[in-house]
Amino acid sequence: MFISYMKHSPFGGSRRGLLILLLAFAGMQVGAQDLAHYKRVIKELASAKYQGRGYAKNGANKAGIFLEKEYQKAGVDGVTLQPFKLDINTFPGKMEVEVNSKIQNSKFKKLTPGVDFSMREYSPGIHGEFPVYHVDTLNFDADRMFADLQKPEYANALVACEFWFTYRHKEAFSRLQKAGECNNAGLIYTWPAPIKFFKAYGHRVVEKPILWVTPEAIEGVQRLRADVDNMFLKDYSCFNVIAKVEGERHDSCYVFTAHYDHLGNLGDKIFYAGANDNASGTACIVTLAAYYAKHKPQYDMYFLSFSGEDANLRGSEFFANNPVVPLSQIKYLFNIDMIGDNNPVQYCECSDEGMRGYQLFEQINAGKKYFTSLHRGDLAANSDHYPFATRHVPCIFLENEKGDAFQYYHTIYDTYKTVRFDSYEPVFRLVTDFIEKY
Ligand SMILES: [Zn+2]
Repeated sequence: MFISYMKHSPFGGSRRGLLILLLAFAGMQVGAQDLAHYKRVIKELASAKYQGRGYAKNGANKAGIFLEKEYQKAGVDGVTLQPFKLDINTFPGKMEVEVNSKIQNSKFKKLTPGVDFSMREYSPGIHGEFPVYHVDTLNFDADRMFADLQKPEYANALVACEFWFTYRHKEAFSRLQKAGECNNAGLIYTWPAPIKFFKAYGHRVVEKPILWVTPEAIEGVQRLRADVDNMFLKDYSCFNVIAKVEGERHDSCYVFTAHYDHLGNLGDKIFYAGANDNASGTACIVTLAAYYAKHKPQYDMYFLSFSGEDANLRGSEFFANNPVVPLSQIKYLFNIDMIGDNNPVQYCECSDEGMRGYQLFEQINAGKKYFTSLHRGDLAANSDHYPFATRHVPCIFLENEKGDAFQYYHTIYDTYKTVRFDSYEPVFRLVTDFIEKY
């Protein structure tokens, strides 16, 4: 219909044609996905105001309050906050590292946090000047390494080694992490740029500091100075945001989930914006809430914005243990995480019970060509669908396959500038079509 009016050139003659055209435009705006709204929410959540939606600077909680208001503006029937607590290691203070690749007392060179180095999430702070011991990975001999570390020139050394090598020689390297086992001060894992920062195991602090450094930044370095503060938050309060749109029936429901937390700060200047991870999914379910608030659904709809995901699925785990609706009443759950990319293939995972609906997803996608294909991987504990999948909820996890944005995953470059918007509309249409037909 839209195309045929174009052919008849409504702008030239018929006023009625123009009116119908305008109505068709308006209908599209309220009728389906809303890219402008989507972009606006991503831009807001990725801004400095929320400091990477972590804990030490209260960024996640500020983002949660923004979402509460955003759901209210979207016209949902109710929004509640579900508080829970977590223990989390953070780095909100000093983050200074400099290295010297020549003999002692020559000039030190500053490394840039987030670019040249970051911290292991469970590392304590580190203060002082240290010799650097480079592990010989070509002719590795654990006994020789421990003997070397007893030499006076390596007293209190930081042991530098490629991360996967330490992983393959866990036994030796776990000794280097424990106090009293060896007199090294800590560890340096090398990781190719762009350097990453994780949070999943930040619920504790280990005895010795561990830094992630790029191979280029640590090559030939003999001494390292560091002034890095950590702050361990015990029983930190955060919350899930739960929005509800009432359907005609209340005996079952559909659930959308997306985590709104991210990695927070690395020192007092750097924050991880997390535009793709996961301002993208968060914004997507906000626009879905707006859509269903305007188009009364058959069944109740829940929109769960989780906190604590990048800290190891803490918000979704808490909700799954304390659901506001019996999990057995969930007809289907859609977890949307990292769709801010531009791969034409859509990655997904299903719970066993979710496989019931998988053919329908494939059918819809094949018919409408939203994505060139769906690529289903094995169920894994990699996002918020997992606590529901293990509790037998029919669910699907939707994440865009690796596109131009994926290289920035968990780096300081995952920003509003690098996030891609291509997958929003196809995801939106895929899930709304699914609900119509399921
Ligand atoms: Zn993440």
